[in-house]
Amino acid sequence: MICIPIIANNLADALHDMTEASKVADIVELRIDYIKNVDLKRLLEKRTKPVIVTNRPVREGGKFDGGEEERIALLKLAVQLQADYVDVEHDSMQHIRRDTVHRVPTKIIVSYHNFRETPNDLTDIYKRLSQSGADIVKIVTHANNITDNVRIYQLLQQSQMPVISFCMGELGIISRILYKRFGSYLTFASLQTGKESAPGQINIHELLNTYQAQKQDKRSTIYGLIGNPVSHSISPIIHNTLFREMNFNSIYVPFKVDTIGDFMREFRKLDIKGYSVTIPHKESVINHLDTIDPMAKKIGAVNTIVNMDGQLIGFNTDCEAAIKVLEGVDQVCSRGERSFAITKDVHLRGKKVTIVGAGGVARAIAFGLKECEAQITIINRNYERAQSLARDVGCFSRKFNDPQALDTEILINATPVGMYPKINETPIDKDKLKPDMIVFDTIYNPIETKLLRDAKTQGCTTINGLTMFAYQAAAQFKLWTGKMPSIEIIEEIAYKHLA
Ligand code: NAP
Repeated sequence: MICIPIIANNLADALHDMTEASKVADIVELRIDYIKNVDLKRLLEKRTKPVIVTNRPVREGGKFDGGEEERIALLKLAVQLQADYVDVEHDSMQHIRRDTVHRVPTKIIVSYHNFRETPNDLTDIYKRLSQSGADIVKIVTHANNITDNVRIYQLLQQSQMPVISFCMGELGIISRILYKRFGSYLTFASLQTGKESAPGQINIHELLNTYQAQKQDKRSTIYGLIGNPVSHSISPIIHNTLFREMNFNSIYVPFKVDTIGDFMREFRKLDIKGYSVTIPHKESVINHLDTIDPMAKKIGAVNTIVNMDGQLIGFNTDCEAAIKVLEGVDQVCSRGERSFAITKDVHLRGKKVTIVGAGGVARAIAFGLKECEAQITIINRNYERAQSLARDVGCFSRKFNDPQALDTEILINATPVGMYPKINETPIDKDKLKPDMIVFDTIYNPIETKLLRDAKTQGCTTINGLTMFAYQAAAQFKLWTGKMPSIEIIEEIAYKHLA
């Protein structure tokens, strides 16, 4: 179930938000600690969905700053008025149980909140709360490390009664999204951005649309993106849409990871079925996998992980995707006015190709082009890195401003220069682009970079990074599920979110 907290500070707004929330949520939480001169009877009469009444004191992260007797009296009133649920803080339970909850339909949620950390004694806290006469236990902690989510998962797996549990904060978002898979009785989502009642709460539309959180169950398989940052990524919307369209009971979430070793070790406990990997972990993740595909090993970077019966296997789909795009796959060429890729077939054997950059993507493309027997030259801001990559691949390197570097048929930008928000930058000056060149920018945000705009003006054939992005995502999906998704659907979703 999804619960929307109502955090209005007057009755009229609370009634309005309760009506709106009831259209999309399963349960509404009336945070009466926010409401001045609350009319609880009126609010409960107007409910159309089950209601949790919460009167959180300041000491537990709430707004109620009156006396304890007054606060408890309001909770008792909620029970008398037959609220569906009343949330009672773990240290106030003795006041409520003794004289109010017998023979009433109200369910008592006994709650524990920790805004600083996810403490080590979670099991003891659970035991204490579960023995307090609660119908439902609520344990909410702050994630200081993404691995704190694993401890919440383990707590939920071991519990014998209904438990609401998740981590707060940015690093806890996954426990809120995966609440059904983790086994939490419910999760909280805000009515809209700006109306959160706790840190890390995402809005109901994102929960329902991006993550399709209501469709998951305890058997849903989990996939995700490892990176830092990850909040900007369109991969969750792409993979979750593909899972829905192709009838997989799976969910894809972003993992913001600082320390890759700790993450890979702890998250094995969740049996995550596959990962995408992005900056800065594409290289460092290799040390934490069981097997590496030979091409990914050569490249020295992994962007896809498949969990095969507990064995984590690393692949690199950037390489395959870039080569497919450069070879000019038929369906990519004919896309009406929205041409995502090249307009003529390119046979790469013997072609002169200059790659700008010597990072992960440049490496993937260079090794792929080498297999196609192209004549490759690497140029890079840090020349030693260009030389090193050229040595590994067995190709040429040149200094960035060596005029011969741009004596080429295909020019590939594999740097972030020109990427949002610095969209007016370009790695190569316009006057160096010649009409017979094919210019491929791996950047996909924006879809048309300054480099591509300049190249078009100079009469070059241009390729943007979106099709490569779609191919690498499709190849990941196929490695995970065995099914090839539609490139068109991926491009459409990406285009819609980036345009
Ligand atoms: P990376 O490993 O960090 O490498 C970045 C490269 O860009 C390095 O060679 C770096 O040069 C160079 N660079 C960075 N800032 C520069 C600047 N201001 N001027 C000149 N050179 C600069 O990154 P990556 O993983 O290879 O990704 C590179 C880009 O590829 C991304 O930004 C993204 O736009 C694109 N990409 C596209 C796809 C797709 O599917 N279309 C997938 C992944 C990535 P130094 O060695 O001198 O630092």
